[in-house]
Amino acid sequence: MHCRKQTVVLCFITGCGLKQNSENIGLDRIKGKGETMSHIYDLIIIGSGPAGLAAAVYAQRAKLDTLVVEKAMVSGGQVLTTYEVDNYPGLPGIGGYDLGIKFREHADRLGARFVEDEVLNIQDGGKGAIKGVVCQGNTYEARSLILATGAVHRKLGVPGEEELAGAGVSYCATCDGAFFRNKVTAVIGGGDVAVEDAIFLARMCSKVYLIHRRNELRAAKSLQENLLSLDNVEVIWDTVADSINGDGMVKSLSLTNVKNGQKREVDVQGVFIAVGITPESRAFEGLVDMDHGYIRAGEDTVTSAPGIFAAGDVRTKPLRQIITAAADGANAITSVERYLVEN
Ligand code: NAP
Repeated sequence: MHCRKQTVVLCFITGCGLKQNSENIGLDRIKGKGETMSHIYDLIIIGSGPAGLAAAVYAQRAKLDTLVVEKAMVSGGQVLTTYEVDNYPGLPGIGGYDLGIKFREHADRLGARFVEDEVLNIQDGGKGAIKGVVCQGNTYEARSLILATGAVHRKLGVPGEEELAGAGVSYCATCDGAFFRNKVTAVIGGGDVAVEDAIFLARMCSKVYLIHRRNELRAAKSLQENLLSLDNVEVIWDTVADSINGDGMVKSLSLTNVKNGQKREVDVQGVFIAVGITPESRAFEGLVDMDHGYIRAGEDTVTSAPGIFAAGDVRTKPLRQIITAAADGANAITSVERYLVEN
């Protein structure tokens, strides 16, 4: 249990309210709130998931005067709440938390500067102009920006979800799974995250239902094989959740089979929702072109706004993985360097 091994992780994605562990995390950060800054950086990276941290590593090696603005003190983004990562080359089976910390330590070792602050909006004067990153605590200035804010868990939108959040409804099995030892839980979704969550929960729960709206999973085949080999997992196909029921705590799920309309209720103590992600791009509305909230950018990470680049899950891309996010970070620095030379 890689995540639990590290005492407790701040689950800032799900807001599950666990305490943060700042151990081993370099705190070489500049002051946030109230600080007066007149410094103009070459580059500000917004976000410190795999894309932002890879960009920070490449920026340090390129000797760019760089600041990373991160929302929470624990870097790593979604990877922190992933139980196990088995597709990052060279590090088979590494815990998501461990990998997130390794990314951060690498950037720290090269001297990257971090500030903890929440970005509200961006002031952009256009090509060649200084860009202002307006945060809650301060405004930071740079000649170029990399937007690497990632994505957050999508809500299911059924009755009971909001009311019972934190009382049996969770968006992070790695963070909250241990509360459901020897209990019956359900995971909703059919992607990598849902299947990974169900596999993880099966190790501690007496029974896990995986509820999927189709009769085919979207998750990687190796994960599917692993899931279907588990005795205490039951996949309920072609089925959607109508409501999550309970009185103060989750007690059951009301389901409908979308093929035959049949309704049923299953008794569960925990419901883990894993129905995809939503890009964290609200602060950039009107700044760059977007497609359903994802920032339009190709592999070169170039956006519609000169000097502003988008890397990782927040940009339009066919494959959202840790490795493709990290690759974006590297590509973004090449694009930043080209832009700075030309301007
Ligand atoms: P995802 O791949 O988009 O899957 C979302 C799942 O939820 C799909 O099965 C979808 O059903 C289902 N769903 C969506 N809306 C629903 C609704 N309203 N009701 C019921 N079901 C609903 O999302 P994800 O699993 O969160 O993964 C997000 C991204 O991260 C993916 O690109 C994934 O590959 C990536 N990821 C990477 C790693 C890694 O690098 N190791 C690990 C985990 C995830 P349909 O299948 O019918 O659309």
